[in-house]
Amino acid sequence: MSIAENIDIVKANLPAHVQLIAVSKTKPAALLMEAYAHGQRAFGENKVQELAWKFEELPKDIEWHFIGHMQTNKVKYIAPFVHLIHGVDSYKLLKTIDAEAKKANRIIPCLLQFHIAEEETKFGFSIAEVTEMLQSDKFHLLKNIQISGVMGMATYTDDETQIHKEFACLKYYFDGLKSGYFADQPEFKEISMGMSGDYLIAIEEGSTMVRIGSTIFGERSYNSET
Ligand SMILES: *Cc1c(COP(=O)(O)O)cnc(C)c1O
Repeated sequence: MSIAENIDIVKANLPAHVQLIAVSKTKPAALLMEAYAHGQRAFGENKVQELAWKFEELPKDIEWHFIGHMQTNKVKYIAPFVHLIHGVDSYKLLKTIDAEAKKANRIIPCLLQFHIAEEETKFGFSIAEVTEMLQSDKFHLLKNIQISGVMGMATYTDDETQIHKEFACLKYYFDGLKSGYFADQPEFKEISMGMSGDYLIAIEEGSTMVRIGSTIFGERSYNSET
């Protein structure tokens, strides 16, 4: 199967309101260009350096999504151009993004990452932490970030009931924030959930953005995995 065919298959499964982020981490520029030639414009990367060189090398109308765990000292390398930062999981990171966005004279859209999986290793806020942050004065000082929604990763498991439950939990958090704190902010609208193995479940549970890598570009080599 070609990359173009893989994209068509995935897209045939996506309702109109769900955006496809093609996760191109570890893949060479030539493969991204195959997707680009087929009309794909939103790409997801999880390493700052890799995102920065791909931005330099590839067409400028690509929307670059940062989907990885971001270190504060690296925000500056992508702040001038990044389209959306999916994995914001601390106030400290948000504050750094705000400062770098200001330098770049931009407002950077961000998603709040929630910890919804059973695994200890997956990053993310709890709802209590987010609620506390949103009520704090220090949060209201941040003028160059825009919270555009939420993001989460389900447990890596064959247990579909479990995956449904975790995505439903993220949707529940989203709904609570949407009707509460963000009630007057229409920009708060995205639920980034679903990867190659679980995106159909994520869509059933209300995803608006799926992040799909291996189904489009093929398996990644073990060594280059995070
Ligand atoms: C790698 C990655 C994906 C894509 O994973 P696939 O299983 O290859 O579709 C999605 N989201 C995040 C955060 C990732 O790191």
